[in-house]
Amino acid sequence: MSRFTHNHVRTGVAKNLAVRHTAQTEQHGERTLPEVLRLFDRNRMWSDRLKEINPDYFSNLAKQQKPEIFWIGCADSRVAANQIIDLPPGEVFVHRNIANVVVHSDLNCLSVLQYAVEVLGVRAVIVCGHYGCGGVAASMTDDDHGLIDNWLNHIRNVQRLHHDELEGLDHHQREHRLCELNVIEQVRNVTKTTIVRDAWRAGNGPEVHGWVYGLGDGLLRQLCVQKPDDAELNVLPSPTKEDCDVHP
Ligand SMILES: [Zn+2]
Repeated sequence: MSRFTHNHVRTGVAKNLAVRHTAQTEQHGERTLPEVLRLFDRNRMWSDRLKEINPDYFSNLAKQQKPEIFWIGCADSRVAANQIIDLPPGEVFVHRNIANVVVHSDLNCLSVLQYAVEVLGVRAVIVCGHYGCGGVAASMTDDDHGLIDNWLNHIRNVQRLHHDELEGLDHHQREHRLCELNVIEQVRNVTKTTIVRDAWRAGNGPEVHGWVYGLGDGLLRQLCVQKPDDAELNVLPSPTKEDCDVHP
């Protein structure tokens, strides 16, 4: 698309936004944030950029999704799944929550996992945590966080399970290591679901990986993996402190 055409499209978008804004203002007063309305502008420009490269991009993508990766990650805005593994829409199926926790009574997470394994037939499930995780840090305090403390108790269970290892570390090292151990335990939880066990028994289940992401350098490290034929989880040596820039 030429610059003129592109600008023309942008101008059209701005007019549409103005019309929409006026309509919303009439209906709701001045409650709609300009920052929110601008998202439509950004969306249109993004869509135009991709269609400029491939006019059939969205029509092809709309026909089906066939991702081979299922990602379970933290809701933290800095750990956006598609972006940090540089994959476009359609390539990764995603579930995110506070501190990438997998709970066997969480119907939300289990439903997404079931769809990923049984319908999409993903080849790998990746649980990805990150250093500097606010959920992990909050789980290490006795402060009152309200409702979310019920959720953070799952991470406190991880802390209790690995008490002996964590006990000898200073606070910073303990938080750093707990981010890793939380991923490893959540991977164990994935491998213990009836969904993954049934798939492995049938001979077509996914590999399950545990990764941790460094906010300070944008790099991933592998922590553990279990393949369908493995008897147990293969836990790799912890990434060295020097290798991990854990400061956000
Ligand atoms: Zn987090």
